[in-house]
Amino acid sequence: MSANLDEKLTPIYEEILRRNPGEIEFHQAVREVLESLGPVVAKHPEISHAKIIERLCEPERQLIFRVPWTDDSGEIHVNRGFRVEFSSTLGPYKGGLRFHPSVNLGIVKFLGFEQIFKNSLTGLPIGGAKGGSDFDPKGRSDAEIMRFCQSFMTELYRYLGEYTDVPAGDIGVGSREIGYLFGQYKRITNRYESGVLTGKGLSWGGSQVRREATGYGCVMFTAEMLRARGDSLEGKRVAVSGAGNVAIYAIEKAQQLGAHVVTCSDSNGYVVDEKGIDLELLKQVKEVERGRVSDYAKRRGSHVRYIDSASSSVWEVPCDVALPSATQNELTGRDAAALVRNGVMAVAEGANMPTTPEGIRVFSEAGVAFAPGKAANAGGVATSALEMQQNASRDSWSFEHTERRLAEIMRHIHDTCYETADRYGRPGDYVAGANIAGFEMVAEAMLAQGLI
Ligand code: GLU
Repeated sequence: MSANLDEKLTPIYEEILRRNPGEIEFHQAVREVLESLGPVVAKHPEISHAKIIERLCEPERQLIFRVPWTDDSGEIHVNRGFRVEFSSTLGPYKGGLRFHPSVNLGIVKFLGFEQIFKNSLTGLPIGGAKGGSDFDPKGRSDAEIMRFCQSFMTELYRYLGEYTDVPAGDIGVGSREIGYLFGQYKRITNRYESGVLTGKGLSWGGSQVRREATGYGCVMFTAEMLRARGDSLEGKRVAVSGAGNVAIYAIEKAQQLGAHVVTCSDSNGYVVDEKGIDLELLKQVKEVERGRVSDYAKRRGSHVRYIDSASSSVWEVPCDVALPSATQNELTGRDAAALVRNGVMAVAEGANMPTTPEGIRVFSEAGVAFAPGKAANAGGVATSALEMQQNASRDSWSFEHTERRLAEIMRHIHDTCYETADRYGRPGDYVAGANIAGFEMVAEAMLAQGLI
């Protein structure tokens, strides 16, 4: 069970298993971080002494609440809402909201735990949190989405604030939902508190590049990894999974940098477009019509292949670079083996924890450059922090300026992970680099702030 865990960390992990039964994604996320921390605790006895890891693995606060709402036919539904305020060590709680039927406490805790280290890596003053609901937005009308968001915020508002807790979007929560949530917060509190949510529309306190940031940042990180190996994205064949906000803007930036992107997917299936994904069409289908990738395939032309996800995986498509940007545990050991067999050289996680532990092991043994989500997809939350900066100073920056800041932040995260991995004798190991560097900053601040 505890094969790669340092002996000091094994009892901590076992206690986490005991205390959080059945929360398998949370266990997985904690284990991945703890596996990197052996050398850190060996070097710094004060970390064990102050029980920093035990404290970090226990959220500061976990909220679960009822969300009743009425559908268009008048029928009443009851969903469950969550907000896990994990760590306020580095700043106000910060992290997205996910609306998806799979959402449960274990999923929200895994996401919130990852967010602590991701946010730390950005170097910006934001703590870690996550939230959401098991509400399924698929097939719901605009009016139903609005009523759900209003009901959700009617409970959540009391825990939020620009200095307290600042949610944003995640799967199932985009600018439409952030708009309804913000409107309800404003109505209840009678405050135009722009900095209480990020991912807002540009005309009411949002930031340029926030929509693009996660996907753009992921590709910027990939470009940095390739640069460190004396290579670039120019002419590379790229496979992307997902067709949401992260995937679309990862495709856009990869194309801008001269790569040839041939896939995207949703939960039903994936497309292989050898001419390269037609981004305008994909945006029309996904962002305007809220359709499926099968609609993209139908409209794009006969050269496109659409494959049902039941029959095979998008990772069987040969590529140089893979950007898993759909959801957790979507890329298994078997998928990783197929990618390695087909010559993949770099993998960067646009989604949160899309690669299984077995998949990561396969990439690591094959010497593939592998960027974990907490580093590669940190551009989204980093740009949220830039949105908070703009709100605090009642300013709004240009697209160019904001994108330049994002590129600097992604380069900084890359270099921090790279140098930290080197410093701990794990050259090229971005998983160890991200976990250790993210942890070091939080641990130092926790030690400074005393036992809280
Ligand atoms: N949900 C995004 C993430 O996974 C963004 C969070 C935010 O902007 O607060 O990092």
